[in-house]
Amino acid sequence: MSPVSATYWGMPGFFIFWVLFAIAFGLFVKRFYLLYRLMCLGKQENRFDRIGERIKAMLVEVVPQWCTLKTLTRNDLAGLAHAFLFWSFSLFFISYIIFIGLAGGFGLSSVIERTPFETVYFSILDIAALLVTLVLIAAAIRRYIIRPPRLQPTAEAAIILMMVFSLMALHVLGVGFDHAARGVHTSWPPLGAALAGWLSKSGLSQATLETGYRVVWWLHYLVILSFMVYIPRSKHLHILASIANAFFKPLGPKVVLEPIPLEALESPEGSASFGVSKIQDFTWKDLLDLYACAECGRCHINCPAQLTGKTLSPREVIHHLKEHLLETGPSLLPTKAEPSSGNQTEASAETPAKTMIGDVVTEGEIWACTTCGACQEVCPVNIEHIRKIIELRRNLVLSQSKMPESAQLMLRNMQQRGHPWAGVQSMRLRGDWTSDLDIKVLADSDSVNTLFWVGCTGALVERNVNATLAMTRVLKAAGVDFGVLGEAETCCGDPARRAGYEFQFQMMAEQNIEMFKSFNIKEIITTCPHCYNTIKHEYPKYGGDFKVIHYTELIADLINQGKLKLTNQLNSKLTYHDPCYLGRYNSVYKEPRQILQSIPRAKFEEMERSKDTGFCCGGGGGLMWIEEQPGTTKVSHLRIEDVIKTGVDTVVAACPYCLQMFEDAIDHKGMKESLKAKDLVEIVEEAMK
Ligand code: SF4
Ligand code: SF4
Repeated sequence: MSPVSATYWGMPGFFIFWVLFAIAFGLFVKRFYLLYRLMCLGKQENRFDRIGERIKAMLVEVVPQWCTLKTLTRNDLAGLAHAFLFWSFSLFFISYIIFIGLAGGFGLSSVIERTPFETVYFSILDIAALLVTLVLIAAAIRRYIIRPPRLQPTAEAAIILMMVFSLMALHVLGVGFDHAARGVHTSWPPLGAALAGWLSKSGLSQATLETGYRVVWWLHYLVILSFMVYIPRSKHLHILASIANAFFKPLGPKVVLEPIPLEALESPEGSASFGVSKIQDFTWKDLLDLYACAECGRCHINCPAQLTGKTLSPREVIHHLKEHLLETGPSLLPTKAEPSSGNQTEASAETPAKTMIGDVVTEGEIWACTTCGACQEVCPVNIEHIRKIIELRRNLVLSQSKMPESAQLMLRNMQQRGHPWAGVQSMRLRGDWTSDLDIKVLADSDSVNTLFWVGCTGALVERNVNATLAMTRVLKAAGVDFGVLGEAETCCGDPARRAGYEFQFQMMAEQNIEMFKSFNIKEIITTCPHCYNTIKHEYPKYGGDFKVIHYTELIADLINQGKLKLTNQLNSKLTYHDPCYLGRYNSVYKEPRQILQSIPRAKFEEMERSKDTGFCCGGGGGLMWIEEQPGTTKVSHLRIEDVIKTGVDTVVAACPYCLQMFEDAIDHKGMKESLKAKDLVEIVEEAMK
């Protein structure tokens, strides 16, 4: 007889079963509803497009646990254990529905229990329980004794480990007592049957065995219900929220920055607030991200800012924002007496005690981010850190006029000169490099299919101008028909956008798009990955849809077509550094390596941190112009250590910022004689001679 069919203290077991379920489920729904309402405090954002693709993307991430398996490294196999726990727990979850819900709660035990199906299912669960227990022991040792830097020994984690262990133990105990009480002697399920054999021989009376079974059964049920109540109240909320986050993740570019309508600038008496200064200024998706965080710390140990001693830790930013939402959010919810006017964020007059920029996330943290994307790449639950940081910067810059001095200079230059550089030799303005090379400089009513977009750094900084000249010679040699904008070219707007100066970016983007259209340009070649990413992924939101090609893609293609031949031997040992905006942002990993590996006698060495786990040079996110926090290691100085470890004589970059950063780092190390930084196109030109 199912324990639910028995009577306890004069009350039917069914009654107790459903009352307990109603209490636990009620608590679950109550919390869930609160979290949902808090999430709805966020601004609107449409993530309900392409539903079919979203479902597919979610299933691919969740069912095979690609979300955690993608984070496996030689030194960190935790993702494998997590995937195994997920699959095992899914099996247990289904068993709770069948053997506890349907069999117990709905009185179907006579149909479901004591059947071959039960024996087979419980046998699988037995093996899973044993393996899960081993994984739990390993996880506990790892988190509380060995403690890799990414893990924190929290009480929450201990509670969950204990709860999962109780579920495993109670499952086996339940089978053991059940079989022993019924006098069943089989070999399956293995653990349960072995325990039953031992209990049968232990001399316990029939009544004790039956009582034992009931106690274990109800305890098991209570732990399952406790789990249901506890999950939405702990960091294990991520179990549910991460599934939703996989559904709502960006399907296109990895970093989605929303435009600010320029009309907002003209709102009366500066009443408009830009970016994010309050928790409810984030979008609902940003708030869902906070629930999804598993506090695994992968972002923390891969963040170049954190690894070089800055105050920024992406994990802590997300954690603190979540705590802030849970603390202040309830007071922002509209109450019954104060019905929502349709805009929940305006419904409450209460001001949160903490200011978000300052108390929750500091300005130091906000300006330390290079927007390298390492955090997003390793995050198993698809959290979008970067746009939160950019939104905070937008508020500092646009609403509070607060930014580091070095950023102010860069932004002033952009406004006044159309580019971020000051006091450098201006090849772009001199314009003579184009006449030497017989390059078509677009003017008036010219029309050209392919534009070589030189980029500010490539046009204005002497070291990078050399690479630009090499690029034009390579293009000419391959017979590529292209034009340049010469003096008419301004910045693409990327540094302004990453620094939060959105209006400057938008104005530049719109002007550039208009100019591209006026010359009938269809295709744009860039050398700078930042320009590449901006024109390719961000201009379309302003009506600029062009085919954008990074020069590494083009050169690889020209080599494949036989239009470029790399025949010159290079007796050099090279390594390639993946620029974040080319690699992680755009997944261009293969082409630069193909090019380098096709050069005769050039020996290629891969750095340990490469491709999607590559390490930033420190120049992105506007940090090319912003001073790194004093007293900390420069990101480029840490990256050059990776280069030095390979023992190469040349580090190759495909980005003008990286090139500058490496030259500085090599100089800092005093290795100018033994280690060179070169742009990939310079290497290509050498190999062509
Ligand atoms: S984008 Fe890069 S620097 Fe910024 S928080 Fe993420 S890992 Fe750190
Ligand atoms: S943000 Fe992502 S990577 Fe960072 S701690 Fe949270 S779940 Fe882990």
